[in-house]
Amino acid sequence: MLPTRGYAVHSPTDNLAPFDFERRELSPTDVLITIDFCGVCHSDIHQVRGEWGNSIYPMVPGHEIVGRVTAVGAEVTKFKIGDHAGVGVAVDSCRECNNCRADYEQHCEKGSVGTYNSTEMDRVTPTYGGYSSQIVVQEHFALRITETENLAAVAPLLCAGITTYSPLKRFGIKAGQKVGVVGLGGLGHLGVKFAVSMGAQVTVFSTSPAKKDDATRLGAQHFVVSKNADEMTPLASTFDFILDTVSAPHDINVYLNLLRLNGAMVQVGIPEKPMEVAAFSLVVNNRSLAGSGAGGIAETQEMLDYCAEKGIVSDIEIIPMSRIAEAYDRTVKGDVRYRFVIDMSTL
Ligand code: NAP
Ligand code: ZN
Ligand code: ZN
Repeated sequence: MLPTRGYAVHSPTDNLAPFDFERRELSPTDVLITIDFCGVCHSDIHQVRGEWGNSIYPMVPGHEIVGRVTAVGAEVTKFKIGDHAGVGVAVDSCRECNNCRADYEQHCEKGSVGTYNSTEMDRVTPTYGGYSSQIVVQEHFALRITETENLAAVAPLLCAGITTYSPLKRFGIKAGQKVGVVGLGGLGHLGVKFAVSMGAQVTVFSTSPAKKDDATRLGAQHFVVSKNADEMTPLASTFDFILDTVSAPHDINVYLNLLRLNGAMVQVGIPEKPMEVAAFSLVVNNRSLAGSGAGGIAETQEMLDYCAEKGIVSDIEIIPMSRIAEAYDRTVKGDVRYRFVIDMSTL
């Protein structure tokens, strides 16, 4: 077994603290990744604090993992020692069901294996995530990362990046379309970058007036303070597509009402409580409301390659592990520009 240092919580009210555990020895198809950086996703906070009601403790969070391959199993072909590699939200799945064969491993019909707060396919062995020194993963679930000097800013692409790229692609966003992004946080700011890169006219809906200049710098044409009815009313029935990344309960009807004929809104934010949908919000203009969960391995690789080609990375604040509690508090307040990334050399 491979002795590994991580940070864990043991209950919903616990603070993250050092935790020593063991990773498995490499199977012939495993790679060992020494972790350089791990992004702080709001999903880490929901799960650490037990907000989704599915938490398994002890929990080592983290599913925006980047680092270098430091060992490979005998049958590994995708990586060699020294390559950059990344891991996102899933580390295994059955690989045989319809969804796995269609490259939606994250929606495996038998249940995919989450990078943390989950169990391996044996349904017994807990998985521990990226707030740790190293990870052993099936090569299929490790992503190739183009050699870069800015590895830390690539980390958030592994979850926030694919979660926003995937629905924009699935709904065929193209040049000239009017796209709204609700919430300018980790997911939201990458959603803006992707929609802009696809040629859309992007409007950011935010509760934080101070983020206006950033929205413009990210390429958005318009910035709307969502609490301000005077700004919202004239926008009724004008949007082709809206991506909702908000982490807390809010009125989604306000945004549905902004969709034009056959417009669609995709929910990627996962507030802890259900939200009400008025039937009229959907019936008028034949609107659709959909959800989207991360992305499969092939699409995540496509997104990483797209980002390397277009020069898209996350805006980040690098922190040492010791500042994780402060990073959680600031993220919950919407005060992150725009993703905290932990420097694992400080573990
Ligand atoms: P984040 O960085 O905290 O961003 C969320 C943003 O939502 C905040 O920056 C803030 O933007 C806005 N917001 C926060 N509280 C609000 C409130 N009470 N009312 C209105 N707006 C509020 O979080 P994230 O990492 O981007 O994650 C966002 C959500 O997506 C989380 O629920 C997370 O669990 C979920 N998620 C889902 C998937 C998936 O596969 N579907 C993947 C990753 C994450 P403004 O300051 O601009 O208002
Ligand atoms: Zn995430
Ligand atoms: Zn499957």
